[in-house]
Amino acid sequence: MVTISLDISHVPSKKVDFLLEKVPFLSEVITGISYDNTNKKIHVTTSLNNSDSPKVKEIYESFEKLNKSIENLRVIKSKVIKSNENKEEKKAVIKSDNQKKSFVNETEIILMDMLDKLFIKIAKKYGAELREYPTILSQNNMNRNQYHINFPQNIYGVTSVPHNLNVIQEFRQNSLTNNFSNSFNFQGEFLQPCICYHCYEENQGQLLTSNKVLTGKGKCFRNEIHWKKDQFRQNEFLMREIVFMGNEQWVIQIRDLIMEDVWKSFESIGFIGKIATATDPFFFSQDMSAKGTFQMMSNAKYELIVTTKNGKESSIASFNYCQDMLCNKYDIKDDDENSLYSGCVAFGIDRWKEAFIDLYSYDTANWPEISMDWEEILV
Ligand SMILES: [Zn+2]
Repeated sequence: MVTISLDISHVPSKKVDFLLEKVPFLSEVITGISYDNTNKKIHVTTSLNNSDSPKVKEIYESFEKLNKSIENLRVIKSKVIKSNENKEEKKAVIKSDNQKKSFVNETEIILMDMLDKLFIKIAKKYGAELREYPTILSQNNMNRNQYHINFPQNIYGVTSVPHNLNVIQEFRQNSLTNNFSNSFNFQGEFLQPCICYHCYEENQGQLLTSNKVLTGKGKCFRNEIHWKKDQFRQNEFLMREIVFMGNEQWVIQIRDLIMEDVWKSFESIGFIGKIATATDPFFFSQDMSAKGTFQMMSNAKYELIVTTKNGKESSIASFNYCQDMLCNKYDIKDDDENSLYSGCVAFGIDRWKEAFIDLYSYDTANWPEISMDWEEILV
């Protein structure tokens, strides 16, 4: 097993976290990273057996490219805006245990339904209409939102075998030797990475006469790095989103009001954690070198972060303000033909479930009564 040390002594300390996030994407042979704060190095473990492998050189070169791409990045320190954490308590750093459960059991299903009832209740409080959307995003939709351009490392494309007898037979033959790639056809469809793009597509090209609030739930898919996966971070996860489109002031107000409701619910359940600004708004390109000096908007994204009993932190909801960017991309305007503003709130339902089980176990006798009835929470 070859280990590579990447020198980051020249990197300003506030950019180090950002680099640590990105280094695992440099190569598929990377199996882990660790940060040596004293010597200012990132140690990268790989699956390689030979340090002369061209893949080692490739990692060094890609790391240089990555460094160049963040030269003009100005990182704003994350700001905590709500917290019920005890600052004195020293947090343990827990390594991912790579566990992958192959099914969700009945208790978990009941719990997720219960949690989702809370999220729907919050959405309904702001006049949301319920929606169901397909799991697949169309090519038109992807071209509008550009997610595949901004985050190629996250996407899953959908392929199929063309309805042509020769190709069908060829596919069958090739499959016997696990050789699939040649006869699969890709036509620009993707598994959804989030729900909200459907809401924008639904309103594409329209002049809205009033504010719009929609909510939908579905399985979402992101190609996570396999060794970073754990019970909170999975390739496939259940998400509910509340999407709101309207004028600028109203959008910010709704986003903040929902955030208050969610925080109140979070505390009522008994969770420990915080809401903090996030520095990676989902709609920004990660290739920042092309954009020149780049400043992350400080109020674009807040994240609700839960701390588990053994000190692991995980983001279980986000509160996003997208300015007029997505409405522009989908050509959604008010009746005076001014582009609208929008935002969305996303709940990682499996993550809420994991945090709940962490706190109260699978034994429903331990569950708090409040979880059965959200009425008191949302007055
Ligand atoms: Zn969204």
